[in-house]
Amino acid sequence: MRVLIYSDVHANLEALLAVEEAAAGHCDSSVCLGDIVGYGANPNETTAWVRAHTPVVIRGNHDRACASLDGIGGFNAVAAQAALWTHQNLRPEHLTWLDQLPAGPLPWDHARLVHGSPLDEDEYLIEPVQAAGAFAADGTALYWYGHSHVQGGFVLADDQVSALPTAAEERPGAGARASSREFVLRPDGRYLINPGSVGQPRDGDWRAAFALYDTETRRVVFHRVPYDIAQAQAKIVAAGLPVRLAQRLAAGK
Ligand code: ZN
Repeated sequence: MRVLIYSDVHANLEALLAVEEAAAGHCDSSVCLGDIVGYGANPNETTAWVRAHTPVVIRGNHDRACASLDGIGGFNAVAAQAALWTHQNLRPEHLTWLDQLPAGPLPWDHARLVHGSPLDEDEYLIEPVQAAGAFAADGTALYWYGHSHVQGGFVLADDQVSALPTAAEERPGAGARASSREFVLRPDGRYLINPGSVGQPRDGDWRAAFALYDTETRRVVFHRVPYDIAQAQAKIVAAGLPVRLAQRLAAGK
């Protein structure tokens, strides 16, 4: 089975549609690792898309906060303002659906799905030392995670934790095209893999991120695709959301 694995859409419809177009014909199913809403201007549209296209979905901290306002106290001012706006603008049926999403870890295929880390959906996995702690927590061979908005992840093999390759580039120009990076999972390795963020990358690359995974060959392909960032930014400003949320899209930070 060829699977589109994606995370952290954050109500960015332009980025999500670019991912849909790039993945079309290359996958049989899809998995979403949470944060469908929050920050961007199209929470209803992105939620409707995920509901229509993706059979396996776990919640992210922003889905939880935007649906029920639970955890909003721990957000910074910009994130809290966006969560409140999203809560007020989501259609009731989408609010209910987001509120009922399961929290990770969720078993899927031979892997487990989490939003933040295996231990805590709100924890960021950024550094190898944090990954080592997650690997030590249990013997799971493969975790898919999101939340950090950084494409890549970690492998534990030969008693060493190393960073995985990524398709992210350092500050690609505004006219940058799509790029990809692939690797095959080692049978003796344990993995924590982040497909990156569709709608608000923070690894210095503004292009939408996702992964394609073949469950038989265990081949992972990280992708980055350009999208209509100006339109996503204009919608954020027009909605009265914090301007900072529009500006950061271009920086990929
Ligand atoms: Zn997120």
